[in-house]
Amino acid sequence: MALDKSNVSVQLNNRTTQYLTGLYNASGYLQFASRLERFGRLSDYTAFFFNIRGFGMINQKYGHKVGDEIIRKYADKLRSFVQPQECVGHLGEDNFTALILKGRRDLFVYFLSRVGVTVYVDKHKEQVFLSASVGMWDIDEKVSGIREVISRPSVALIHARYITHKTTALASTDMLNRDFQKKEVVENFHTALGNEEFFVFYQPKVDSKKRLLVGAEGLVRWKHDGDMVPPGAFIPTLEQNGEILFLDYYVLQRTCNDIRLWMEAGLEPVTISVNFSRKDLMDAELADNINNIIEESGIDKNLIEIEVTETVDDEEHGILADFINRLYMLGVKTAIDDFGSGYSSLSTLREFQVHTLKIDRSFINTDDFSWKDEIILTDIIRMAKRLGIEVLTEGVEREDQLSFVNNAGCDVIQGYYFDKPLCEEDFRKRLDNKNY
Ligand code: C2E
Ligand code: MG
Ligand code: MG
Repeated sequence: MALDKSNVSVQLNNRTTQYLTGLYNASGYLQFASRLERFGRLSDYTAFFFNIRGFGMINQKYGHKVGDEIIRKYADKLRSFVQPQECVGHLGEDNFTALILKGRRDLFVYFLSRVGVTVYVDKHKEQVFLSASVGMWDIDEKVSGIREVISRPSVALIHARYITHKTTALASTDMLNRDFQKKEVVENFHTALGNEEFFVFYQPKVDSKKRLLVGAEGLVRWKHDGDMVPPGAFIPTLEQNGEILFLDYYVLQRTCNDIRLWMEAGLEPVTISVNFSRKDLMDAELADNINNIIEESGIDKNLIEIEVTETVDDEEHGILADFINRLYMLGVKTAIDDFGSGYSSLSTLREFQVHTLKIDRSFINTDDFSWKDEIILTDIIRMAKRLGIEVLTEGVEREDQLSFVNNAGCDVIQGYYFDKPLCEEDFRKRLDNKNY
């Protein structure tokens, strides 16, 4: 039977639509998907979950009222793209979903890469261009519950953000297995912590001019059922339920302990950075607890650096500033992680007493470097250095990427070009001979 608007569309009312945009809310969207399923047509579609990159920043710049206006106009643009037998949903804030015919999937991805909307700011017309981070799932025959049209592409979106650092990701079986682990993560976390199933790997930071080891980042791994599970598979879940804090304190403790053991073995240590999730900022004592852990371990404070990522949320921004400045007062170094990945702003350099800026790999994650990127990168690096902030670039894998960042003024590199994250035993060898 041919599908048309009359047999799939869901009645629009305040239980099925989002109040701001009038698009389907989660309930209306799922009803639409159920109808497609009943007609046996669901597998003709790709399910999308997407949000607007840096939308928090846009809200900050224009204020919430104009922010809402932008969302409404964005929704209108989406509406104009979809065909009668397709649909788009709005789950709130800047989170959207869509069911698009598979043949139009790539066209929709292209569409989402740049949507222009016009708004009035103080009576002046302004054009704002929005690009989305996109997760998608080519729906197959094996749908085990209708909510999968939301959950599967959303897993792909998390994958894009945490693992590949790209703007789009298509759900794969591999990712679905990761999603499957979600329950496992929640149920097994505390036992795993108690059983010491979490390990710290160390990824070298290398001065590419001197060819010398100058530091490392501690990265957590979970040895579970014989596998080394990467953090992207469990950190988002722990962040959602707030348990990440336990893990981050644990990783810091273990790192301090490893440093002490290296020194006892006669090795000369380097500074190791440790990641703290922004969710950890909920703990008002975070900075003091970090300081206590380092002091109790007996190692020099200079040997630890705390990595955090930037935020677009106003309130969180203030909390982050207090946290960084408190650590500064306590003599603990900090680094801004993933700088330039969409959430960071230059005001960070002015407001925060940070020691290091870690430039995100998205700057170099390309085959042909744009001269615009080079100008931006060179300027950021120059500014940071003049402010006394050290700069490092992450994710350098190739020779051409290395020379690109060297030309932009950055010598310190963390990336596969020199080393992958190493287990403690292999990292000791690097400490023993620091030359590359
Ligand atoms: P991150 O802090 O930005 O860490 C860098 C990630 O990039 C690591 O992935 C590292 O293995 C990877 N990487 C390094 N060089 C290259 C390269 O040349 N090419 C590519 N493709 N990748 C490279 P990993 O270990 O999977 O960690 C992913 C993220 O998980 C980290 O990103 C960090 O945000 C988070 N994470 C890791 N350990 C912890 C932890 O103990 N606590 C918290 N809260 N987050 C952690
Ligand atoms: Mg990091
Ligand atoms: Mg990073």
